[in-house]
Parts: sequence; structure tokens; C-alpha cells
Amino acid sequence: MKIQTKIALLFTILTSGIIVALSVFIYTFGSESVSNSFYHRLEVRADIVGHAALQESKSTTSIYYDIKERHLGDLPFEQHHIIKNGEIEKARQLKERLPMPSAFYDNIVRKEPARFFKNDTSYVGLNINQSGKTIIILSSAVDLYGLEEIENLKKLLIVGFFISMIFVFTFGKLFSTQIFNPIRRIIRNVKGISAHNLHQRLEVAGSKDEIDDLTHTFNDMLNRLEITFEIQNNFVSNASHEFRTPLTVISGEAQLGLSLEEIPPAAKSSFEVIYKEAGKLEHLANSMLKLAQTGFDGTKEQWSPIRVDELVLSVKEAVDKIIPDNQVDIDFNHLPEDEAKLTINGNQTLLTAALSNIVLNSCKYSDNKPVTIIISSDGTHSIVEIQDIGIGIPDREIAQIYVPFFRASNTERYKGFGIGLPLANNIIKKHNGTIAVDSQVGAGTSFKIHLPCSKASF
Ligand code: ADP
Repeated sequence: MKIQTKIALLFTILTSGIIVALSVFIYTFGSESVSNSFYHRLEVRADIVGHAALQESKSTTSIYYDIKERHLGDLPFEQHHIIKNGEIEKARQLKERLPMPSAFYDNIVRKEPARFFKNDTSYVGLNINQSGKTIIILSSAVDLYGLEEIENLKKLLIVGFFISMIFVFTFGKLFSTQIFNPIRRIIRNVKGISAHNLHQRLEVAGSKDEIDDLTHTFNDMLNRLEITFEIQNNFVSNASHEFRTPLTVISGEAQLGLSLEEIPPAAKSSFEVIYKEAGKLEHLANSMLKLAQTGFDGTKEQWSPIRVDELVLSVKEAVDKIIPDNQVDIDFNHLPEDEAKLTINGNQTLLTAALSNIVLNSCKYSDNKPVTIIISSDGTHSIVEIQDIGIGIPDREIAQIYVPFFRASNTERYKGFGIGLPLANNIIKKHNGTIAVDSQVGAGTSFKIHLPCSKASF
């Protein structure tokens, strides 16, 4: 889950907790105060009815009822039960009929507030003494308006809760999106920086906050990286350049030696070894030089339309020079009918270097077993697939094969420096192509290269 969604959720959960607690408090307090006021109104009526019952003369009794009628009125479903001294049977029957617990009656005896609520009905009990007479009055009524008010309050709180949750989540999301916008911008910019455009820097927003600090830190890191890359690149480029001249001289001398007529067989085979090994070293020096040149977006080489089948033939020629007894076979059976779909735009020398490195690897890591190069097209890209039945690449190491100087753990038996694939990868990327590998240890490896067809061919 993204941090910005997490923040919005956390914000919502926190606010919902606060709103729920507040709603519970409002609901409890509201319903308590509504029921207290209703109990009080019922008790006032019970008191009048009780005092009316205690009067000897009928006229005084009717005065009480008159006052009640005129000033207070009846509550919904209002009922009063009067138990006079000695009416034990009546008291027993009422106790059985009415739902109040015995604590309710104990409170009446102790003259403490006796209140009870069940099935929407409120019950109160009073113990009234006057002129030596005692009566107990049990009154009940239904607070229709109060119940409705409480119900409305409940609905209002629930609806209010959900509406506020929607608002809180939406604003929380907007708020966190706003906060994370500068970070997203940095991620976008950093993703666009690679070895090819290390000179690029992140734009400083000038907000003088943590994001500005982060941007400066990234830019400082890029400065250091660029300097290190340049130093490494210059070294590799100078060293390989310096190697090339003596190597050309060595192979020339070996060739001259081989061309001599009167030469003992031992010397001839020595010249052959010198010529072959010098060729390998020359290939290595050239690869290193090209790796250094293509690592940065330095001088752009001359680009021209290239036919992929011709490119593969020149790769085969280059491989033949280094491994004359190779078993590389080119499969032309999948060539597209439309020849234009085989034409790409690029630099012939660089692409030959890239593909020959991959094919040479296939020969090397399969101990010179058959290697197949299949040329095909998917309409927009020319595809070159190089398949071998060699040692394969261990699964967990596949991701690292394009890292300069990396060599897989199963290659101890084979000579190499780990620069062929990084070079091939750089060159193919430079041509806006992709390279994919599919490998199984002990079964073989297949490299699939997609190169975009030149626009002119559509
Ligand atoms: P190296 O000089 O070691 O061949 P590369 O850069 O050309 O360097 O290749 C990097 C690593 O990728 C190799 O060391 C090897 O482990 C692995 N690799 C490349 N191609 C193959 C292949 N066809 N079969 C098995 N492993 C391969």
C-alpha cells in the first residue's frame, strides 16, 4: 500500500475514533437528560395523584385533579396505581403484573428515587405521608416525543458519521497527494537519470524544506557519481586505446612470420598461437573501448539503415575470425515477407560488436556446441534470437549479467572479463532496443534482441 493511502487511512481511522466517541457521548448525555426530564414530569403527576388520593373530602380531591388537568395535562399512556396501608393483596398482584425489580420497591420504602424503564415505558414510584397516612403510588407513561427525539438524534449521528468519514477520507487523500507531489516529481526525475545522462540534475524547488534537502542530497550524490564514472571511463578508454597499437603490431608480426616459407613447424604453431591470442586481446581491447564510449552519451556514431540479415552475416564473419571451428547456424526460415521490416537504423560497427559478443558467449559457454541465430520480425521490431545448449545461467544471477565485470558462479572453467554483455546491453539500449534472456542451468541459454524497425520501412 502506498504511503499516501496509508496516511489517508490513518487520518480517517483516527478521526472516526474521535467522532464515534463524541457521538456516543452526545447520544448518552442526550437520552439521559430526555429520560430524566420525563421521570421528573411523571413524578410531579404521581405526587399530585397521590396527594389527591390522601384527601378526605371529595372537593379537595377534585381540586388536585383540576390543577393536574389544567396545568399539567395527561402524558401518553399515563397510569397510576395507588396502594394504601394494609392493601397487601393489591400490592402483591401489582408486583407480579408490573416489570419493576425488587430494588425499585426498596427505593420506594427508603423514600429514594425509584425509577425504571422497560419496553419504551417509564415507571416511577413514590412513598407519600400526610397527616399520619401513608400511600405508595406507582405511575407509568410512555415518552412518545422523547423516544422520537432520541431516535432522530441516533439517525442524525449515524448519517453525520458516514458523511464526515467520506469527507475526511477524500480530504485526507487530497492532502497526502499534495504532500507527496514533490516526492513523486523527484522519483520521476531520478528514474530518468542513467549512466547515459549522468550530467542531468534534479530541479530544486526552493521551498527550503526537507524536500529541498533531499533534492540537494541527490544532486550531490549525482555529482560524485559523475566524477567517479568519468574517471573510470577515461581510464578504461585510455588503457584499451594504448593496448590496441602494440596488439596490432603483434598480430601483424605473427602474420608476417606465418607467411614465411622456410619456417620450422614448431615456430609456425607458435606464430599461430600468437596470432590467435593477439586477435582475442584485440577483441577485448575493442570491446572495452566501446564499453567506455557507449557508457556515456558521448560522440554519437554515424547511423544508417541496416538490414538485420546482413548484420547477422557480418556477426558470423566476426565470430569465424575468433573461433574458426564454430557451429553457428543462421536460421532464415522466419524472415518476414516484407523485407522492409528487416531494416533498422543504427551503427553497423557497434551492433556487430554487440551481437558478436553474445554469439561468442554462446559458443564459449556451450564448449563450441551448435548455436542457432533466428531472424524474425513482429511487425514493428526486428528480432534476433541466439540459442545455445550450454551451461546456462543460475536463476538468482540472471539479473546481474549486465553489470560490468560480473561473471556467474558456474563459469570458473571459462576465461572472461564480464564486459561483453554490459557492452551489448549498452549498444542495444542506444538503439532503443531490448534484450531478454531465458536460461536454464545445464540446458542452455537464449538471448532475444528486439530492435525497432526504421520508420522509413513502414
Ligand atoms: P564473460 O567475459 O564472462 O563472458 P560477459 O559480460 O560476456 O562476460 O557475460 C557475463 C556473464 O554472463 C558470463 O560470465 C556468464 O556467467 C553469463 N553468460 C553470458 N552468456 C552466457 C551463455 N550463453 N551461457 C551461459 N552463461 C552466459
